[in-house]
Amino acid sequence: MASLPYIVGNWKMNGTRAMLPEARAIDRAAARFPKVQVAVAPPATLIYRTREAAELIGVGGQDCHTQESGAYTGDISAVMLKDAGADFTIVGHSERRAMHGETDGVVQAKAQAALAAGLAVIVCVGETEAERDAGQAVAVVSGQIEGSLPRGDGVVEKVSVAYEPVWAIGTGRVPSIEDVAAMHAAIREQLIAIYGADGAGVRILYGGSVKAENAAELLAVANVGGALVGGASLTAESFLAIVGAAA
Ligand code: PEP
Repeated sequence: MASLPYIVGNWKMNGTRAMLPEARAIDRAAARFPKVQVAVAPPATLIYRTREAAELIGVGGQDCHTQESGAYTGDISAVMLKDAGADFTIVGHSERRAMHGETDGVVQAKAQAALAAGLAVIVCVGETEAERDAGQAVAVVSGQIEGSLPRGDGVVEKVSVAYEPVWAIGTGRVPSIEDVAAMHAAIREQLIAIYGADGAGVRILYGGSVKAENAAELLAVANVGGALVGGASLTAESFLAIVGAAA
């Protein structure tokens, strides 16, 4: 059975309690789109309040630590995200990989920690512009998939992959439809190699400058099972326009 398109808003380091009405508005409107799975990943400080404000949509973290607890000042564990009401977490976002030096091994350990805590996980991968220009995009993403995806019995149902070319994030630039199709097909093949036949059901989201104007075209590409949305998820109006395009 084909799964519903999954549209996830990543608020990044944006939002105070003043943003809760946006979450509430997204949640209310989600009832109009029963054929779309909708979720937001607010800053960790807002997870509890967002969960309280929203009944239908998923609520997630943007990162988690590899450990459950301990002397890791400033970090947040997957167990804590779960306790705050999260259903899932993003791991391996390119901003974390670039600004916090997260390697594939660290991302994989975070994904395993998320699953152990009972969260679903969205693992982000994507090449830089220099890597694409050098003809290395598929090889780079393939290496990230191999090194970052969690393994083990029963994990596959809780895993999604987000393909986010680094050069498309927040820039207004998107790859050609052909390039998106080729990358998602390559990722699909690798998911089947890793997880066996169940890899065919893993959702592969596209992320990077998704907006209402390009969402329908991107979501129609084979093996694109949803979108991870940054900037355009910060108001209910712009996010719901993307949700509407997925319906
Ligand atoms: C992101 O950072 O996950 C993202 C997709 O950002 P944007 O939509 O703003 O490009």
